Amino acid sequence: MINLILFGPPGSGKGTQAAKLVEKYHLLHISTGDLFRYEMGNDTPLGKKAKSYIEKGELVPDEVTVGMLRNKVEANPDAAGFIFDGFPRTIPQAEALDELMAEKGSRISALLMLDVPDEELVKRLLERGKTSGRKDDTDESIIRNRIEVYKSETAPVFDYYQAKDKAEKVYGLGSIEEIFERLCNRIDALVA
Ligand code: ADP
Repeated sequence: MINLILFGPPGSGKGTQAAKLVEKYHLLHISTGDLFRYEMGNDTPLGKKAKSYIEKGELVPDEVTVGMLRNKVEANPDAAGFIFDGFPRTIPQAEALDELMAEKGSRISALLMLDVPDEELVKRLLERGKTSGRKDDTDESIIRNRIEVYKSETAPVFDYYQAKDKAEKVYGLGSIEEIFERLCNRIDALVA
């Protein structure tokens, strides 16, 4: 089983690359952001709870996020492996994920971080906000808050997996195809 964490700040291209990786490696893509947007779209109790945080550019509390992620993983016992996108975003989430994988008799193979400078992130997110319908992409101060939250709460997750020798940085500027190739090279090295 290959279980990847696709990591990086908001706007670093995780969703775009995940879609391409799924096609090539036949892994199940789990994006906590997409799951929250689905819940919000259906106005479920979970969606209502998440909305107040997401619209401010803050993280949804760990217990809510971990519970949702666990349900999704457990609903797919036959998956050949997973691509986690937007999860884990905090150390407690990383610990919960490791525990969940261990329960399945599996583990995280690698964390691949898309490395992109802040100014490029802001530019990409504002551009995406013109068409995505995402409120959290239209306001520059909310975008900057998301980047700050990434630095303070999420970046330590990189160190957590680095200590296990599983974290790698991939340069995230260039064409979508170029970046995809960089990621594939790392993944192929894992299975070789
Ligand atoms: P981005 O494109 O900014 O990386 P996502 O689509 O992954 O954003 O997530 C959008 C929002 O959903 C985040 O800003 C956050 O509020 C919430 N969210 C997504 N994943 C998590 C998580 N693992 N923990 C807490 N909140 C999350």
